[in-house]
Amino acid sequence: MKVQLVALSLTLVGACSTLRHTKKIEKLKESIVFEDTQTVETYLNTITEDELKEHVYTFSSDEFQGRRAGEPGHHKASKFLKDYYIQEDIKSPLGSKYYQYIPEAYFSEGIKDSQNVIAFIEGSQFPNEVIIISAHSDHEGFNATEIYNGADDNGSGTAAVLEMAQAFKKAALDGHSPKRSIVFLHLTGEEVGLNGSRYYTQYPVFSMKNTVANLNIDMIGRVDDAHKDAENYVYVIGADRLSTELHYISEEANNKFAGLDLDYKLNKDNDPNRYYYRSDHYNFAQKGVPVIFYFNGEHEDYHEPTDTPEKINYALLKQRTKLIFATAWYLANSKNRIIVDKDI
Ligand SMILES: [Zn+2]
Repeated sequence: MKVQLVALSLTLVGACSTLRHTKKIEKLKESIVFEDTQTVETYLNTITEDELKEHVYTFSSDEFQGRRAGEPGHHKASKFLKDYYIQEDIKSPLGSKYYQYIPEAYFSEGIKDSQNVIAFIEGSQFPNEVIIISAHSDHEGFNATEIYNGADDNGSGTAAVLEMAQAFKKAALDGHSPKRSIVFLHLTGEEVGLNGSRYYTQYPVFSMKNTVANLNIDMIGRVDDAHKDAENYVYVIGADRLSTELHYISEEANNKFAGLDLDYKLNKDNDPNRYYYRSDHYNFAQKGVPVIFYFNGEHEDYHEPTDTPEKINYALLKQRTKLIFATAWYLANSKNRIIVDKDI
Protein backbone atom coordinates (compact mmCIF):
# COMPACT_ATOMS: atom_id res chain seq x y z
CA MET A 1 0.00 0.00 0.00
CA LYS A 2 2.73 2.41 1.02
CA VAL A 3 4.66 1.72 -2.11
CA GLN A 4 1.63 2.51 -4.21
CA LEU A 5 1.07 5.81 -2.39
CA VAL A 6 4.61 6.88 -3.08
CA ALA A 7 4.17 5.94 -6.71
CA LEU A 8 0.93 7.94 -6.90
CA SER A 9 2.44 11.07 -5.36
CA LEU A 10 5.41 10.83 -7.73
CA THR A 11 3.02 10.67 -10.66
CA LEU A 12 1.23 13.78 -9.37
CA VAL A 13 4.48 15.70 -8.95
CA GLY A 14 5.49 14.67 -12.47
CA ALA A 15 2.18 15.82 -13.92
CA CYS A 16 2.37 19.17 -12.10
CA SER A 17 5.85 19.98 -13.27
CA THR A 18 4.94 18.99 -16.84
CA LEU A 19 1.97 21.34 -16.64
CA ARG A 20 4.14 24.13 -15.25
CA HIS A 21 6.63 23.55 -18.04
CA THR A 22 3.89 23.59 -20.70
CA LYS A 23 2.48 26.85 -19.28
CA LYS A 24 5.93 28.41 -19.24
CA ILE A 25 6.49 27.47 -22.88
CA GLU A 26 3.04 28.80 -23.81
CA LYS A 27 3.89 32.07 -22.11
CA LEU A 28 7.24 32.23 -23.86
CA LYS A 29 5.57 31.63 -27.24
CA GLU A 30 2.97 34.32 -26.57
CA SER A 31 5.64 36.80 -25.53
CA ILE A 32 7.19 36.71 -29.01
CA VAL A 33 5.36 39.38 -30.96
CA PHE A 34 6.55 41.41 -33.93
CA GLU A 35 5.25 44.87 -33.02
CA ASP A 36 6.44 46.51 -36.22
CA THR A 37 5.15 44.11 -38.86
CA GLN A 38 4.63 46.82 -41.48
CA THR A 39 8.13 48.18 -41.05
CA VAL A 40 9.69 44.72 -41.27
CA GLU A 41 7.67 44.07 -44.45
CA THR A 42 8.91 47.31 -46.01
CA TYR A 43 12.55 46.23 -45.74
CA LEU A 44 11.88 42.56 -46.45
CA ASN A 45 10.53 43.68 -49.79
CA THR A 46 13.88 45.22 -50.72
CA ILE A 47 15.29 41.67 -50.84
CA THR A 48 14.75 40.71 -54.47
CA GLU A 49 15.32 37.68 -56.65
CA ASP A 50 17.11 39.80 -59.24
CA GLU A 51 19.68 41.15 -56.82
CA LEU A 52 20.26 37.77 -55.19
CA LYS A 53 20.79 36.34 -58.66
CA GLU A 54 23.24 39.05 -59.59
CA HIS A 55 25.27 38.40 -56.42
CA VAL A 56 25.30 34.62 -56.88
CA TYR A 57 26.37 34.90 -60.52
CA THR A 58 29.16 37.33 -59.69
CA PHE A 59 30.39 35.48 -56.62
CA SER A 60 30.48 32.09 -58.34
CA SER A 61 31.93 33.33 -61.61
CA ASP A 62 35.17 31.89 -63.03
CA GLU A 63 36.88 35.16 -62.16
CA PHE A 64 37.13 34.02 -58.53
CA GLN A 65 38.63 30.65 -59.49
CA GLY A 66 36.68 28.57 -57.01
CA ARG A 67 37.66 30.84 -54.07
CA ARG A 68 40.08 28.51 -52.33
CA ALA A 69 41.20 30.14 -49.06
CA GLY A 70 44.57 31.89 -49.34
CA GLU A 71 44.60 31.82 -53.16
CA PRO A 72 44.30 34.82 -55.53
CA GLY A 73 40.68 33.95 -56.44
CA HIS A 74 39.57 34.11 -52.82
CA HIS A 75 41.48 37.36 -52.23
CA LYS A 76 39.62 38.78 -55.22
CA ALA A 77 36.31 37.56 -53.81
CA SER A 78 37.15 39.19 -50.43
CA LYS A 79 37.90 42.44 -52.23
CA PHE A 80 34.53 42.20 -54.00
CA LEU A 81 32.78 41.90 -50.61
CA LYS A 82 34.72 44.80 -49.12
CA ASP A 83 33.98 47.01 -52.15
CA TYR A 84 30.29 46.15 -51.90
CA TYR A 85 30.11 47.36 -48.29
CA ILE A 86 32.03 50.53 -49.11
CA GLN A 87 29.69 51.23 -52.00
CA GLU A 88 26.63 50.66 -49.78
CA ASP A 89 28.21 52.87 -47.09
CA ILE A 90 28.11 50.05 -44.55
CA LYS A 91 31.03 50.44 -42.16
CA SER A 92 33.31 47.85 -40.61
CA PRO A 93 34.04 47.61 -36.86
CA LEU A 94 37.67 47.24 -38.02
CA GLY A 95 37.72 50.66 -39.66
CA SER A 96 38.70 51.08 -43.27
CA LYS A 97 40.37 47.70 -43.73
CA TYR A 98 37.26 45.43 -43.34
CA TYR A 99 39.59 42.40 -43.18
CA GLN A 100 40.39 40.24 -40.18
CA TYR A 101 43.70 38.79 -41.32
CA ILE A 102 44.51 35.19 -40.47
CA PRO A 103 48.18 34.20 -40.80
CA GLU A 104 49.32 31.17 -42.75
CA ALA A 105 50.59 29.57 -39.53
CA TYR A 106 47.02 29.29 -38.25
CA PHE A 107 46.02 27.01 -41.13
CA SER A 108 47.16 23.54 -42.02
CA GLU A 109 47.06 21.74 -45.41
CA GLY A 110 49.30 24.37 -47.04
CA ILE A 111 46.70 27.16 -46.90
CA LYS A 112 48.25 30.62 -47.17
CA ASP A 113 47.31 33.87 -45.38
CA SER A 114 43.63 34.62 -45.72
CA GLN A 115 40.94 36.86 -44.26
CA ASN A 116 37.44 37.14 -42.88
CA VAL A 117 35.50 40.17 -44.12
CA ILE A 118 33.49 42.05 -41.48
CA ALA A 119 30.92 44.83 -41.80
CA PHE A 120 28.25 46.04 -39.38
CA ILE A 121 25.38 48.35 -38.61
CA GLU A 122 25.72 49.83 -35.17
CA GLY A 123 22.91 49.39 -32.66
CA SER A 124 21.17 52.52 -31.42
CA GLN A 125 20.48 51.32 -27.85
CA PHE A 126 22.78 48.41 -27.10
CA PRO A 127 25.65 48.88 -29.57
CA ASN A 128 27.87 46.41 -27.75
CA GLU A 129 25.37 43.57 -28.06
CA VAL A 130 25.65 41.91 -31.47
CA ILE A 131 23.75 39.57 -33.74
CA ILE A 132 26.16 37.91 -36.17
CA ILE A 133 24.91 36.85 -39.59
CA SER A 134 27.58 34.69 -41.19
CA ALA A 135 28.33 32.76 -44.36
CA HIS A 136 31.61 31.26 -45.50
CA SER A 137 33.13 32.83 -48.59
CA ASP A 138 35.67 30.17 -49.56
CA HIS A 139 35.23 27.02 -51.64
CA GLU A 140 37.24 24.24 -53.28
CA GLY A 141 39.31 26.12 -55.89
CA PHE A 142 40.10 24.49 -59.22
CA ASN A 143 42.00 21.61 -60.78
CA ALA A 144 43.68 21.12 -64.16
CA THR A 145 40.41 21.08 -66.07
CA GLU A 146 37.61 22.50 -63.93
CA ILE A 147 36.66 25.31 -61.57
CA TYR A 148 34.56 24.59 -58.51
CA ASN A 149 32.26 27.60 -58.74
CA GLY A 150 30.34 26.87 -55.52
CA ALA A 151 27.16 28.72 -56.48
CA ASP A 152 25.11 27.06 -53.76
CA ASP A 153 28.15 26.44 -51.54
CA ASN A 154 28.27 29.21 -50.61
CA GLY A 155 27.39 31.83 -53.22
CA SER A 156 23.81 31.45 -52.03
CA GLY A 157 24.62 32.24 -48.39
CA THR A 158 26.92 35.10 -49.39
CA ALA A 159 24.25 36.68 -51.61
CA ALA A 160 21.74 36.40 -48.75
CA VAL A 161 24.09 38.24 -46.37
CA LEU A 162 24.72 41.03 -48.91
CA GLU A 163 21.00 41.54 -49.51
CA MET A 164 20.21 41.57 -45.78
CA ALA A 165 22.99 44.06 -45.10
CA GLN A 166 21.55 46.37 -47.73
CA ALA A 167 18.03 46.01 -46.30
CA PHE A 168 19.18 46.76 -42.73
CA LYS A 169 21.14 49.76 -44.04
CA LYS A 170 18.06 51.12 -45.82
CA ALA A 171 16.06 50.73 -42.62
CA ALA A 172 18.75 52.54 -40.63
CA LEU A 173 18.80 55.42 -43.13
CA ASP A 174 15.03 55.75 -42.72
CA GLY A 175 15.39 56.04 -38.95
CA HIS A 176 14.92 52.36 -38.09
CA SER A 177 18.40 51.55 -36.83
CA PRO A 178 18.49 48.24 -34.99
CA LYS A 179 18.69 48.46 -31.19
CA ARG A 180 21.55 45.96 -31.14
CA SER A 181 24.40 45.89 -33.64
CA ILE A 182 24.17 43.54 -36.60
CA VAL A 183 27.44 42.10 -37.88
CA PHE A 184 27.86 40.70 -41.40
CA LEU A 185 30.65 38.17 -41.26
CA HIS A 186 32.13 36.44 -44.33
CA LEU A 187 34.27 33.60 -43.09
CA THR A 188 37.29 32.10 -44.81
CA GLY A 189 38.66 28.57 -44.59
CA GLU A 190 35.39 26.76 -43.82
CA GLU A 191 36.06 24.08 -46.42
CA VAL A 192 39.46 23.33 -44.92
CA GLY A 193 38.34 22.92 -41.30
CA LEU A 194 36.10 25.80 -40.10
CA ASN A 195 39.21 27.96 -39.72
CA GLY A 196 37.70 31.43 -40.20
CA SER A 197 35.05 30.90 -37.53
CA ARG A 198 37.51 29.25 -35.15
CA TYR A 199 39.78 32.26 -35.55
CA TYR A 200 36.96 34.76 -35.13
CA THR A 201 35.63 33.08 -31.98
CA GLN A 202 39.18 32.97 -30.56
CA TYR A 203 39.88 36.61 -31.44
CA PRO A 204 36.39 38.13 -31.57
CA VAL A 205 35.84 41.74 -32.60
CA PHE A 206 32.90 41.92 -30.16
CA SER A 207 33.24 39.78 -27.05
CA MET A 208 31.58 36.37 -27.13
CA LYS A 209 29.76 37.35 -23.93
CA ASN A 210 28.04 40.18 -25.83
CA THR A 211 27.27 38.04 -28.86
CA VAL A 212 23.54 37.43 -28.63
CA ALA A 213 23.20 34.92 -31.47
CA ASN A 214 24.82 33.64 -34.65
CA LEU A 215 22.68 32.99 -37.72
CA ASN A 216 24.87 30.99 -40.08
CA ILE A 217 24.06 30.27 -43.70
CA ASP A 218 25.71 27.55 -45.74
CA MET A 219 23.85 26.47 -48.93
CA ILE A 220 20.29 27.80 -49.18
CA GLY A 221 19.71 27.97 -52.94
CA ARG A 222 18.86 24.39 -53.89
CA VAL A 223 16.45 21.53 -53.18
CA ASP A 224 17.54 18.10 -51.97
CA ASP A 225 16.06 14.77 -53.08
CA ALA A 226 13.88 14.47 -49.99
CA HIS A 227 11.98 17.66 -50.97
CA LYS A 228 11.63 17.25 -54.75
CA ASP A 229 7.84 17.34 -54.40
CA ALA A 230 7.67 19.94 -51.62
CA GLU A 231 10.28 22.56 -52.36
CA ASN A 232 9.09 25.26 -49.99
CA TYR A 233 11.35 24.27 -47.09
CA VAL A 234 14.61 24.88 -45.30
CA TYR A 235 16.46 22.78 -42.76
CA VAL A 236 16.76 24.61 -39.45
CA ILE A 237 19.51 23.19 -37.29
CA GLY A 238 20.53 24.13 -33.76
CA ALA A 239 17.86 26.73 -32.96
CA ASP A 240 16.67 25.01 -29.76
CA ARG A 241 20.01 23.65 -28.57
CA LEU A 242 20.94 26.56 -26.27
CA SER A 243 17.90 28.82 -26.23
CA THR A 244 14.26 27.70 -26.31
CA GLU A 245 13.37 31.32 -27.01
CA LEU A 246 15.46 31.42 -30.18
CA HIS A 247 13.59 28.42 -31.55
CA TYR A 248 10.22 30.11 -31.02
CA ILE A 249 11.43 33.42 -32.47
CA SER A 250 12.51 31.55 -35.59
CA GLU A 251 9.07 29.90 -35.84
CA GLU A 252 7.23 33.18 -35.37
CA ALA A 253 9.44 34.93 -37.95
CA ASN A 254 8.59 32.15 -40.38
CA ASN A 255 4.83 32.24 -39.65
CA LYS A 256 4.65 35.99 -40.15
CA PHE A 257 7.06 36.61 -42.99
CA ALA A 258 8.33 33.54 -44.87
CA GLY A 259 5.79 30.69 -44.79
CA LEU A 260 8.38 27.95 -45.29
CA ASP A 261 8.25 24.39 -44.08
CA LEU A 262 10.86 24.36 -41.32
CA ASP A 263 12.40 20.91 -41.43
CA TYR A 264 13.98 19.84 -38.13
CA LYS A 265 14.99 16.36 -39.26
CA LEU A 266 18.70 17.21 -39.37
CA ASN A 267 18.56 18.86 -35.95
CA LYS A 268 17.99 15.54 -34.18
CA ASP A 269 20.90 14.70 -31.94
CA ASN A 270 21.02 11.16 -33.31
CA ASP A 271 21.10 12.28 -36.95
CA PRO A 272 24.07 10.42 -38.48
CA ASN A 273 25.11 13.41 -40.64
CA ARG A 274 25.87 15.52 -37.53
CA TYR A 275 25.48 18.80 -39.45
CA TYR A 276 25.19 20.75 -36.20
CA TYR A 277 28.90 20.08 -35.73
CA ARG A 278 29.94 20.64 -39.34
CA SER A 279 29.74 24.30 -40.28
CA ASP A 280 30.93 27.58 -38.81
CA HIS A 281 28.09 28.12 -36.33
CA TYR A 282 29.45 25.27 -34.20
CA ASN A 283 32.46 27.34 -33.14
CA PHE A 284 30.02 29.94 -31.78
CA ALA A 285 27.85 27.31 -30.07
CA GLN A 286 30.90 25.91 -28.33
CA LYS A 287 31.42 29.35 -26.75
CA GLY A 288 27.82 29.34 -25.50
CA VAL A 289 26.35 31.54 -28.24
CA PRO A 290 22.91 30.36 -29.46
CA VAL A 291 23.00 29.59 -33.20
CA ILE A 292 20.80 28.73 -36.12
CA PHE A 293 22.21 26.96 -39.12
CA TYR A 294 20.19 27.35 -42.37
CA PHE A 295 20.79 24.65 -44.95
CA ASN A 296 19.12 23.09 -48.01
CA GLY A 297 20.67 19.63 -47.60
CA GLU A 298 23.03 17.92 -49.98
CA HIS A 299 22.37 17.38 -53.69
CA GLU A 300 24.08 15.79 -56.70
CA ASP A 301 26.25 18.90 -57.32
CA TYR A 302 27.45 19.21 -53.72
CA HIS A 303 31.25 19.77 -53.79
CA GLU A 304 31.30 19.17 -57.55
CA PRO A 305 32.36 21.57 -60.36
CA THR A 306 28.71 21.39 -61.46
CA ASP A 307 27.50 23.53 -58.50
CA THR A 308 26.70 26.42 -60.87
CA PRO A 309 24.44 29.50 -60.64
CA GLU A 310 21.78 28.56 -63.21
CA LYS A 311 20.76 25.64 -60.97
CA ILE A 312 19.80 27.88 -58.06
CA ASN A 313 16.10 28.32 -57.24
CA TYR A 314 16.07 32.11 -56.77
CA ALA A 315 12.47 32.39 -55.58
CA LEU A 316 13.27 29.93 -52.82
CA LEU A 317 16.57 31.66 -52.02
CA LYS A 318 14.56 34.85 -51.53
CA GLN A 319 12.03 33.23 -49.16
CA ARG A 320 14.80 31.67 -47.09
CA THR A 321 16.63 35.01 -46.93
CA LYS A 322 13.42 36.64 -45.70
CA LEU A 323 13.16 34.14 -42.85
CA ILE A 324 16.70 34.94 -41.73
CA PHE A 325 16.19 38.69 -42.09
CA ALA A 326 13.00 38.65 -39.98
CA THR A 327 14.67 36.49 -37.32
CA ALA A 328 17.66 38.85 -37.16
CA TRP A 329 15.33 41.85 -37.01
CA TYR A 330 13.58 40.43 -33.95
CA LEU A 331 16.81 39.48 -32.20
CA ALA A 332 18.24 42.95 -32.81
CA ASN A 333 15.14 44.86 -31.74
CA SER A 334 13.55 42.92 -28.88
CA LYS A 335 13.35 44.65 -25.51
CA ASN A 336 15.54 42.06 -23.80
CA ARG A 337 18.25 39.94 -25.33
CA ILE A 338 17.32 36.27 -25.67
CA ILE A 339 17.83 33.95 -22.74
CA VAL A 340 20.20 31.00 -22.86
CA ASP A 341 18.38 28.30 -20.87
CA LYS A 342 20.34 25.19 -21.84
CA ASP A 343 23.90 23.99 -21.36
CA ILE A 344 26.39 23.56 -24.19
ZN1 LIG B 1 29.64 25.23 -47.39
